[in-house]
Amino acid sequence: MITKKGISASPGVAIGPTLVLDTEEFRIPRRTIDPSQVPAQIQTLDAALDASRQEVSELRLSAARKLGGKTATIFEFHEQFIADPKLRTNVVELIEQHRYTAAYSFAQVMNRWQRVFQTVADPYLKERVRDLFDIEKRVLRHILGSVREDISRLTESVVIVAHDLTPSQAVSLDRQHILGLAINVGGQTSHMAIIARMHGIPAVVALNDITSDVSGGETVIIDGTHGIVIANPDADAVERYRTQEREYHAFELELAGLRDLPAVTRDGVPVSLMANIEFAEETQAAMDAGAAGVGLYRSEFLFLSGPRLPTEEQQYEAFRTAARHAGGKTTIIRTMDLGADKMAESIGAPHDHNPVLGLRSLRYCLQHLDMFKTHLRAILRASVEGNVQIMFPMITTLMELRQAKATLADVMEDLEEEEIPFRRDLATGIMVETPAAALLSSAFAKEAAFFSIGTNDLTQYTLAVDRGNERVSHLYSPHNPAVLRLIRQVIRAARVGNIPVALCGEMAGAPIYTQLLLGLGLRALSMAPKDIPEIKKVIRSTTIARCEKIARRIMRFDADRQVLNYLRDNLRAIGPEFI
Ligand code: PEP
Ligand code: MG
Repeated sequence: MITKKGISASPGVAIGPTLVLDTEEFRIPRRTIDPSQVPAQIQTLDAALDASRQEVSELRLSAARKLGGKTATIFEFHEQFIADPKLRTNVVELIEQHRYTAAYSFAQVMNRWQRVFQTVADPYLKERVRDLFDIEKRVLRHILGSVREDISRLTESVVIVAHDLTPSQAVSLDRQHILGLAINVGGQTSHMAIIARMHGIPAVVALNDITSDVSGGETVIIDGTHGIVIANPDADAVERYRTQEREYHAFELELAGLRDLPAVTRDGVPVSLMANIEFAEETQAAMDAGAAGVGLYRSEFLFLSGPRLPTEEQQYEAFRTAARHAGGKTTIIRTMDLGADKMAESIGAPHDHNPVLGLRSLRYCLQHLDMFKTHLRAILRASVEGNVQIMFPMITTLMELRQAKATLADVMEDLEEEEIPFRRDLATGIMVETPAAALLSSAFAKEAAFFSIGTNDLTQYTLAVDRGNERVSHLYSPHNPAVLRLIRQVIRAARVGNIPVALCGEMAGAPIYTQLLLGLGLRALSMAPKDIPEIKKVIRSTTIARCEKIARRIMRFDADRQVLNYLRDNLRAIGPEFI
């Protein structure tokens, strides 16, 4: 049994067999097995050798068809090597005599062969070393996990163990079969974590080297709430976590009962709880969870799903669906926020040296006006279907906002000329997620129809801490007094400028922050639909007078630890179950 501590990315408990992705980059742990497991390990080896040979044979045929016989001979070597009985015998010997796992034994044997090939004089054989690496990867993939990287079509329920998930893998998660996620890298607000939370899949990130600590098929426990992963758990641990899992579901069920109750404090102040969504299809579930509208539609996910840009029609369909399902409630569509950790194949992602500070998001759009205009056209056309609003992300200067609005005005003119209906009066707001925008919020309040504070990025940029880098995650705290002062400044600027302000970073869905945010003056929060019931419960358990007192006290602190301890005490005071 190995216990590893990472960062909690999505709460809940999952217990199940692992599917290890990206095996090629990782060491195979030296693991011994019980004698009773020897036949099963040999069976795994045989199945992997068979499947690999089959794969290579298909590749050879298709290469011969497409590229001619010469290329196909490369695969002949692979096929012969895998089918050679000597290879199997050597691996089986290690399994039987040393009780090593099939994966470790196979890697050892391949290592030996690679060394032999490297030292021979024959240039042809020397060249083949790279083929041996290839063969090793292929067979190991079959030993360690039955399906490689294709996590959109799973046939059995598994816990995914991976170094990282690409955006396209993250968006194609097969929710039905993915019990949990254990990931080497990442932080609490990396997009992978956000998606896991959105889908309610327990997840732990920043586990360092979990991909080397577990092998495919081994049982693991994911404790997403506390950021713990246990590999090869004993019966006691499984029992303990099954109990925790039942308690977690019971709490969720209790919260579901709040669905139709208003989000109003004990002293009668209503709070608007909106939903963050990534796909139009999630709108219905958000409404079912009691959302007052869509506070953040991360439209860039349309661009992350495939290798091609979505057409205007495809975008329009998605936005229309969201607006319709929201049934007249506010639907804030954020223009595509690509870049940084959301690189899309479809836009041929430019490689910036420092992508978080590079040509991302609105900056990219303003340099690719054709694509941006198509995007805006689709949003405007969908605006007649409901209460659609537009929000520009990553604003740092007033000039950017003016340029974005001018582009929007151009698109409106085009639509008018073409007599295509849209809502000319649709509100155009901005995300305040850079320190520059926060510091200049009183100027922005004169030109934006609303603010939505994006604390995920605001924290990253204020504290100069990459939100997805586990090595600096201890420095990433949205409750840092520097971030809180900026949040307060934005709320005040909105009040003076008489425009609505909401907060849509992950902070909005974390109960620990609710009283502070209300105390600072926020009356609209946007979060993963799943978080709405718990935040509602916190709101219904407190008063604005109490929240303001908490906020006043906190704004006098200058260390984030003080803030957190004080928030914890104050949350415990209104309901120990929240902690
Ligand atoms: C944010 O930055 O807080 C935000 C809500 O946007 P995203 O997480 O998509 O960057
Ligand atoms: Mg952001």
